[in-house]
Amino acid sequence: MDPQPYLLTIDHLLSEEERLTWTAARDFCERRVAPVIEEHYERATFPKELIPEFAEMGFLGSSLQGYGCAGMNPVAYGLTMIELERQDSGIRSFCSVQSALAMWPIYTYGDEAQRKRWLPEMSAGRAIGCFGLTEPNSGSDPGSMRTHARQLERGGDYILNGQKFWITNSPIADVMVVWAKTTDFGSDAPVIRGFLLERGMKGLSTPETKGKLSLRASLTGEIVMDEVRVPKQNMLPNVRGLKGPLGCLTQARYGIGWGAVGAAMGVYERARRYTMERTQFDRPLAGFQLTQQKLVELHNQIGKGLLLAYHFGRLKQDGKLTPYQVSYLKRDNVRMALESARTARSMLGGNGIMGEYHVMRHVCNLETVYTYEGTHEIHTLAIGRALTGLSAFR
Ligand SMILES: Cc1cc2nc3c(=O)[nH]c(=O)nc-3n(C[C@H](O)[C@H](O)[C@H](O)COP(=O)(O)OP(=O)(O)OC[C@H]3O[C@@H](n4cnc5c(N)ncnc54)[C@H](O)[C@@H]3O)c2cc1C
Repeated sequence: MDPQPYLLTIDHLLSEEERLTWTAARDFCERRVAPVIEEHYERATFPKELIPEFAEMGFLGSSLQGYGCAGMNPVAYGLTMIELERQDSGIRSFCSVQSALAMWPIYTYGDEAQRKRWLPEMSAGRAIGCFGLTEPNSGSDPGSMRTHARQLERGGDYILNGQKFWITNSPIADVMVVWAKTTDFGSDAPVIRGFLLERGMKGLSTPETKGKLSLRASLTGEIVMDEVRVPKQNMLPNVRGLKGPLGCLTQARYGIGWGAVGAAMGVYERARRYTMERTQFDRPLAGFQLTQQKLVELHNQIGKGLLLAYHFGRLKQDGKLTPYQVSYLKRDNVRMALESARTARSMLGGNGIMGEYHVMRHVCNLETVYTYEGTHEIHTLAIGRALTGLSAFR
């Protein structure tokens, strides 16, 4: 019989346009990302030269309407995430942050002047955005943030002080969506608000974080604010409170839930090919029962992850997807991808740790994906709360 890598596909559930988007994204990523990613990973650099091509492919702000954005539906958007992350989680992170964490809040919480100023530039890849929520002492508990915005006079500008940490794209960002506790002039009740900080503002710097052993082809840095004066027109007018940043994270986590399936597919396909080609004890490794069991586990888990992403994608299209379902998607698919990558690594033996085999890189990357955008544990607690009505955290 003819061996086939997948017994489950979703092709027949997709529209013609979604299928074309998927094929185009795969072709682009194989042609443009695959040949350069390993070297960028080793050098800990991001392939900036690809940004205009990401824009051309509609990967920047893909699910937004207008302003030069591609207006993809949630399933088409998810399929592009699969292909980006099949190559590298850092490349998918770049597009996720630009689209879901920087453009989405400007589109959703901003006013028309802010949208017109930033979105066309960002969808064209001429302006890069980042999202500043995490701080050195505020990770899983963002409500404990210390970054503070003080209004100078009633209806006037703000002065921002604080430090954001672990910020993807910050070293190259032109615009930074920064979440800060604000006390409006004359008020003593702080509330979280979003601000658009622009490179070049006095007192603003974005030092790069060096020494990462994961997500090395993604730039990470800080946002340091020392008495930065931010015009009142740069505050996002249409959201107040923690639901602002959490709304952005729900968008990004949805894409991660799809992207993780791509990473798992990448490592599974490599492990399958490798074990079918490599011979030990006079037989291809794939001919041994223990190897087949590993392949079957990887394959079957990928199928379930893909179906979960597809199902939730259609719910999102109908406007019915809840943040708890997004936690379910991000949590389970990322864990599945991380476990798949570790298993695939073992199946390649010594070669599994080599860069040229592209598996160890996924193992290392997925350790970050497991932690960022809400850690695995925090999503477990969120789902636990949804199931019981009892909050084990807050
Ligand atoms: C490469 C990278 C890129 C990132 N990009 C961004 C970005 O662009 N913007 C941004 O704002 N942030 C970003 N982050 C930050 C990321 O979201 C945080 O690292 C994450 O939220 C966890 O916070 P923390 O690292 O402070 O860990 P902590 O919150 O200190 O958690 C440490 C451990 O304790 C566990 N824990 C915490 N609370 C509980 C609890 N109540 N019960 C049980 N266990 C608990 C956690 O699950 C985790 O295992 C990035 C992180 C990385 C590594």
